[in-house]
Amino acid sequence: MVNGQVILKTGRDKNVRAHHPWVFSGAVQHVKGKPQSGETVEVRAANGDLLGLGAWSPASQIQVRLWTFADARIDRDFFVERIRQALAYRQQLGIPQRNSGYRLLNAESDGLPGVVVDVFGDWLVMQALTAGAEYWKHTIAAALLEVMPAQGVYERSDVDVRKKEGLETTVGSLKGAMPPAQIDIEEENRHYRVDVLHGHKTGFYLDQRDNRSVLQHHAADKTVLNCFSYTGGFAIAALQGGAEQAINIDASQPALDIAAQTAALNGFVPERMENICGDVFKLLRDYRNEGRQFDIVVLDPPKFAENRNQLEKAARGYKDINLLGFKLLKPGGLLFTFSCSGLMESSLFQKIVADAAVDAGCDARILRKLDQATDHPTRLAFPEGYYLKGLVCQK
Ligand code: SAH
Repeated sequence: MVNGQVILKTGRDKNVRAHHPWVFSGAVQHVKGKPQSGETVEVRAANGDLLGLGAWSPASQIQVRLWTFADARIDRDFFVERIRQALAYRQQLGIPQRNSGYRLLNAESDGLPGVVVDVFGDWLVMQALTAGAEYWKHTIAAALLEVMPAQGVYERSDVDVRKKEGLETTVGSLKGAMPPAQIDIEEENRHYRVDVLHGHKTGFYLDQRDNRSVLQHHAADKTVLNCFSYTGGFAIAALQGGAEQAINIDASQPALDIAAQTAALNGFVPERMENICGDVFKLLRDYRNEGRQFDIVVLDPPKFAENRNQLEKAARGYKDINLLGFKLLKPGGLLFTFSCSGLMESSLFQKIVADAAVDAGCDARILRKLDQATDHPTRLAFPEGYYLKGLVCQK
């Protein structure tokens, strides 16, 4: 059912005609009807052309997110079809065949703004990030179980971005059975333990899968310092690739406890993985002062920039850890360095890493550029969907 019409200002229809799915409040001329938060509205150009249908979000600066650029019905069948398309794309890439943990729905880039769904074994974990996602989440959960042979759908909408939509944070079972406290998944030839109830985001950083595989190929007989390790995703990949030892550093003891369990799950003796709870910024300095050196250093920090005002501070943070990272590398060693801040452009990130190398006194080179995994695609019309970039640099 359509509950209103949003008429755009003259000349402000260009982005939507190019299939960018967001309508900012400044582009809206007027609203016909009385749509409630999350309800479906028509989006029309000033001349009356129908541009598509979207979810109304009065509290947000992004007042409409478009579900479709066609004249379609937004209902359960619509969601079933989008989910089928998303699954087919991933099956075509062989992702569900090789991984029991993967991203099924990547929001805007899978045609479902605000809807994130990750698969962990027999369970689906959903984030409803927007008013539209919130309005439809029970329908989407039912549609998911129609398409996927899963035991249940669990919601992890404990994310601050919901406040911008006028929504409270919330967690809990949406449909089917409650997931267990821990789910063990397979990723390529690696095993991981995931805490979908309390872990970060939906429980695991699936976006780094392809990059973990790259590290695995470089890791034979190496020593690896895995900074911002979370549950040791990169460390397990390194050990599977034959690394001598991997050291995880993270501020979260529960994450490191899972890392230790994950090492056992993969059959590694405890000596091959050291888990250190602490502040990466401080420990890297301590290691530098002690003159410690590693074959491989991984730097995968949290988002340093949440908005444009934080970009400069973020740049200083990246520079600091990358400089220390280079210093801790043996000659010929590899730095796997990442930024998951969408606002930090690839070119700027590369420049910061280059500056860090100069200040560390090394003439490093890029061996490879890295990205978010292929189950986290970016719609060309929606460049905001691209956020994770990385460099493999050789000292
Ligand atoms: N590399 C991980 C994901 C890292 S997410 C993976 O592949 O799974 C970022 C991590 O950094 C989180 O686990 C968070 O607990 C940790 N963290 C944030 N600030 C930190 C700090 N100053 N020192 C150590 N860990 C930190």
